[in-house]
Amino acid sequence: MTMRILISGASVAGPVLAYWLTRHGFSVTVVERAPTLRKTGGHAVDLFRPAVDITEKMGVLPRVMERATGTSRMTIYREGSRRPVRVDLSKIFSGASERHVEIMRDDLSEIYYDAARDDVEYVFGDSITAISPDGEVRFENAAPRRFDLVVGADGLHSNVRHLVFGDESRLSAFIGAYLGVLTLPNTSGLDGEVLIHVGVGRTAGMYGARHLGEARALFLFRSERELDYHHRDVPRQKELLRGAFEGAHADVDRWLDELDRTPAFYFDSITQLHMDTWSRGRVTLVGDAGYCPGPAVGGSTSLAVVGAYVLARELARAGGDHERAFPAYERAMAEHVRGSRAVALSAANTLIPTSRLGVWGLAQGARLLSALPAGPSRALMRLTTKSARLYNSMTVDDYPPASGGRVGLAGDLGSR
Ligand SMILES: Cc1cc2nc3c(=O)[nH]c(=O)nc-3n(C[C@H](O)[C@H](O)[C@H](O)COP(=O)(O)OP(=O)(O)OC[C@H]3O[C@@H](n4cnc5c(N)ncnc54)[C@H](O)[C@@H]3O)c2cc1C
Repeated sequence: MTMRILISGASVAGPVLAYWLTRHGFSVTVVERAPTLRKTGGHAVDLFRPAVDITEKMGVLPRVMERATGTSRMTIYREGSRRPVRVDLSKIFSGASERHVEIMRDDLSEIYYDAARDDVEYVFGDSITAISPDGEVRFENAAPRRFDLVVGADGLHSNVRHLVFGDESRLSAFIGAYLGVLTLPNTSGLDGEVLIHVGVGRTAGMYGARHLGEARALFLFRSERELDYHHRDVPRQKELLRGAFEGAHADVDRWLDELDRTPAFYFDSITQLHMDTWSRGRVTLVGDAGYCPGPAVGGSTSLAVVGAYVLARELARAGGDHERAFPAYERAMAEHVRGSRAVALSAANTLIPTSRLGVWGLAQGARLLSALPAGPSRALMRLTTKSARLYNSMTVDDYPPASGGRVGLAGDLGSR
């Protein structure tokens, strides 16, 4: 009998995992809470070298390159200084990773979805409500079904993780900062450029992508203690954001004015997940659901792509035996996950400086790196940044040869 795997979440990790599992003969169903694939763009995300390599192996790199945001220039204004610093971002990214593409998350998700949509059963507008140890899964809408394995690819606030590992607050660590994003008209005509205002404890930026009608404004700010708000209380979140950026700059005020009109708003604390294991019985987690190092600061999209690829690889190697595959997957990812957490903490310190010296250092450091010729700037990045060392050290092993048929249950392995 063919092994049936249920994945919760159709964003980045879910569709990449579905693609690779079907290539190895597993039968895959993906359940996604949203009624359709999200098309609003979301925010820009980064694919660094190992994730670009995996995307290339999936045959979809040309589509990803077509939809890339093309962001290559950054203008930084320090609070209190009128002289902007102009930075060649492409040099900074090429220093951090030998290959890099920036793309809107929803574009990426659609491309990965298309890569295996004919071989995968996608169920939109539903959510898992219970998973029993023998694999019976209950849903909000659909009738119960039995699966051999269940994978949570449902993001930082994962439903599967909640069902299997319990309360999120025991597993997450607040890193002392908050993140807000809003969609707004691209009145400045930003094309391939990001505009940043940075001050002590707060950074706001706006970027526009070539093919997107609207721009995004991103806000990062520090807070020593966790702020008091409910995750559904959007007016309170907007009030907190306004308060954190009061008096920053007239540009930032204009972006914040859009809070009353924006069609899309996101606000969350920047938290890292710290789990000793991501697997229990027949269930495991992939991407942000299992090991988010912090949204917007830790390269978590690349980690999600690598994690999905590695999990599928280990399941294929073990012929579907999750008792061998899940520990092998966790071992293979452990170092990358630890590294990403360290990158996230150091990126948060750089991007949201704690002192005036830090503000100056961010602007001047970026200027120096972008002023150097490509070779020396790459070398300096590798010497000085954790992210460069991390992404360039991750390797993507080749896959075992395709099984050529359906993968059976663990008990069938002897015959394959
Ligand atoms: C504001 C912001 C800015 C970011 N900026 C960057 C960046 O600059 N660079 C970068 O690399 N990364 C960035 N990230 C992180 C990046 O978006 C994630 O790391 C990446 O999307 C992880 O993919 P994922 O598939 O693991 O999870 P997600 O993309 O979070 O997807 C989870 C999916 O699960 C679905 N889902 C949720 N609950 C359920 C349920 N109950 N049942 C079924 N489905 C469910 C969701 O609808 C979603 O489709 C940012 C994140 C945020 C929030």
